[in-house]
Formats: sequence, C-alpha cells, structure tokens
Amino acid sequence: MKIAIEELAGCSGCTIAVLDLHEMILDVIEQAEIVYSPVIMDVKEPPEGIDIAFVTGAVRNAENEERLKTIRARANTLVALGTCAVYGGISGLSMLSSREDLFNYVYREVDTVPPDGTIPTDVPPFLYRAFAVGDKVKVDYFIPGCPPKENRLRQILPAMMAGDRVSLSRKSVCSECDRIMGPIENWTLKRRFEGEPDREYCLLGQGYLCLGPVTFCGCEAACPAKNVPCHGCNGPSLDILREPCRDIFNMTVRRISDLTDRPEKEVAAELYDVAHTMYPFTMGSQVMEDKEISKIRELIKEGNR
Ligand code: SF4
Ligand code: SF4
Ligand code: SF4
Repeated sequence: MKIAIEELAGCSGCTIAVLDLHEMILDVIEQAEIVYSPVIMDVKEPPEGIDIAFVTGAVRNAENEERLKTIRARANTLVALGTCAVYGGISGLSMLSSREDLFNYVYREVDTVPPDGTIPTDVPPFLYRAFAVGDKVKVDYFIPGCPPKENRLRQILPAMMAGDRVSLSRKSVCSECDRIMGPIENWTLKRRFEGEPDREYCLLGQGYLCLGPVTFCGCEAACPAKNVPCHGCNGPSLDILREPCRDIFNMTVRRISDLTDRPEKEVAAELYDVAHTMYPFTMGSQVMEDKEISKIRELIKEGNR
C-alpha cells in the first residue's frame, strides 16, 4: 500500500502528529510505504498510484489548489487530516485582514524580514478566501483536530490501512468531559486569565467560555481535563454541521442562556471578539459560512476578499 501526506497552508503539525505515534509508526511502515511527504522526506512531487493520500492544511493560494488537485487525481482515497484541511483552520483567520495588510505584516513588519522591505512578486497568487479541502475536491474521510489527537489516530490509521471500518463516537467534547454542573449563581462571563476555575465543576457554568457543547469529540476533553476551556480545535459537533439553523455562535448563546436563564440577546451582546473566540478554526470553511445564520460573513469585511 502506498500512502502520501501533502502539505497545503498549515503548520505541518498534523504530519508531526502522525510521527508522534512513536513505535506505532513502525507498524504503519510495515504495512505501507510512505511514497511522498515533503515534511519527512526529500521528494518534490507525488507519484501516480497512491492508495491513501492525507492532505493537511487549508487552500489559501493557487499553489495549494494545484497541489490538491494533483494529489486528488493520483490517489484512490483522500483524507482531509486536521482542522485546517477539514474547516480551513487557523489559515482561515487570514480572512480578517486584507491581502495588503497581510503581506505588509509578513514581509515588512516581523523581526526576521530583510530590511529593504521588498514584497516579493514571484509568490503564488492569493485566492480571494481560504478554503477547506472539501470545498475544492471530493474528500473520502475527514479527521479533524488541531492537530488530530494521538489516541484518535491510533484508532483510525491501522483500521484504515487494513481496509476495516472503525466505529467512533460522534458526540461533543462534553460527552468526554467528566466535570459536573455546579451551582449557577451570579453568572458573569470571565476571561481565561481571571481567577482559577474550580476543577470539579463545568467551566461554562463557572463563566468560562468553553466550546465543549458545540465541538466535535475525539480528544477526551483534553483541555477541560487540564482546567482550560475548550476553544473548539476539533471543529463543530455534527449536529451543528448538519443542521442549517445551528451554528457555533447561536448554539453557544442558547446554551449559556439555558444555563443562566438570561435572554439570548443579552448573552449575545456580552460575547466579545467573536471571530477569535467562536470561529478561530472554522472561518475558512465555506460550508460553515454558507449557513443562513452564520456570523462569519459579517466578521469578514468585504474589502478583505
Ligand atoms: S490543523 Fe493545526 S496542527 Fe494541523 S496544520 Fe493546521 S494549524 Fe497545524
Ligand atoms: S462545557 Fe466544557 S467544562 Fe462543561 S462539560 Fe462541556 S466540555 Fe466540560
Ligand atoms: S478540548 Fe477542545 S480545544 Fe482542547 S483539544 Fe479538545 S477540541 Fe481541542
């Protein structure tokens, strides 16, 4: 079996997550030959006849798009690996700024750029928006996570290579969290750095913006287990993804309103920096933006496209 891992607009962390399988990677190599992965081997182009291609990263420029179409044409099965590939991920946040501002920052303002401030003209053209892989080509399987967590990959990869199906939970992060609902008294929205959350009670109930109820499971509620609210890196839960009238923002507002008995309008007005707190991983997904009630459209200023 020939497998490949393609890199688009991302940080390569998803490929490193595969390498982080440690000794299990030896079992993978026993069953399959890794024929292409720009992160782990010196090979420039994917060969023909790939059995399973994993694609990481979003589609943000013309080169990403061309590479995606090439690997799709050369692979029997294509897997979107990681939240950038599945929902645009962190790359989607680039849509909050104009192309001009992004290029000025990247080529002129960070400390490591050459002092002449030249913006190169020979880089691949920027697309008008970020895209998830599934917005551009047919995807056979989606494995979200930023990056996908080790336990999830340990369940999925051997089964996939053996041609077996694996039955996985499709619930939300809350289903994997062992916190209990504490008393809801004088609920106020808190920033993460304010106070120290009680380790037994639900973080959302304590006022911390935990996206567990609206986020797909598969990480064993890793962040709440460390006393940190979930920020949604697995992407939306399936009920949000499937239902046109459900979105990360409106379902979070509804959940807080139910918990606190406060009107939804009042709760919505209290939520701050909605782009970074609600959509840091999904802004680049056309599927999420196209929802009738999505806030993504109003967050992306038209001039930034
Ligand atoms: S999903 Fe996360 S880890 Fe994977 S490429 Fe994107 S930013 Fe990196
Ligand atoms: S909202 Fe967060 S802390 Fe509360 S149960 Fe869900 S995942 Fe756990
Ligand atoms: S708890 Fe949320 S932010 Fe943390 S790993 Fe899981 S999905 Fe990602």
